[in-house]
Amino acid sequence: MDATIKSIRPSKPSDRPSEGRPAELDPAEFLAAAVRADQPRPARAEAEAAVKTLLAYIGENTGREGLLDTPRRVVEAFDELYQGYHQCPAEVLDRTFGETAGYDDFVLVRDIEFTSQCEHHMMPFYGKAHIAYTPVERVVGLSKLARLTDIFARRLQTQEHLTAQIAAAIDEILKPRGVAVLIEAEHTCMSVRGVAKHGASTFTSRFTGMFRDNPAEQARFLSLVRGLQR
Ligand SMILES: [Zn+2]
Repeated sequence: MDATIKSIRPSKPSDRPSEGRPAELDPAEFLAAAVRADQPRPARAEAEAAVKTLLAYIGENTGREGLLDTPRRVVEAFDELYQGYHQCPAEVLDRTFGETAGYDDFVLVRDIEFTSQCEHHMMPFYGKAHIAYTPVERVVGLSKLARLTDIFARRLQTQEHLTAQIAAAIDEILKPRGVAVLIEAEHTCMSVRGVAKHGASTFTSRFTGMFRDNPAEQARFLSLVRGLQR
């Protein structure tokens, strides 16, 4: 199995607009819904017509029975796969609990399964996200980290961007002592087309705060993620 390791780091600490956030990330994209309710969009019928055009493009007879409902189904599938554009990451992390009862270590949620779509080919990539953060005084329900992952995954993505957005949202909203995000994924645009290599995994990581500054904490996170699995 090949593995590509990509670490996402801001170029220089001084380039960062705020603590731990990569310069290229706009807070609007990781804090708010990506689509405004009043944003003009093509009508559903136009989207279905576009699918019909693609069917004709590949050489299909768009009038044959098996394909009659396909444009509608494809647009419905799009609604589901891309619902993250209409969901607000900040809202998910909004409900926090103040009682940490003196807890001072990091909280790790491992093996959060996700499926996203690559922005270059609109083909799925899927895998697992591992997320840790060290609360200062606010903690969130553990399912919220999975919900957050899903919101960003249900948009067109690169794996690097997905990783950075999850870390930035937690960093910005919970203001923890640090965030660690590791994502491992298989990209179908690489496994079923292009070089057609099955089983190749891509790893991306992002560390902020104490995880960025303290290699021992980073190593402890990585060993917890890796050590207990497989
Ligand atoms: Zn791709």
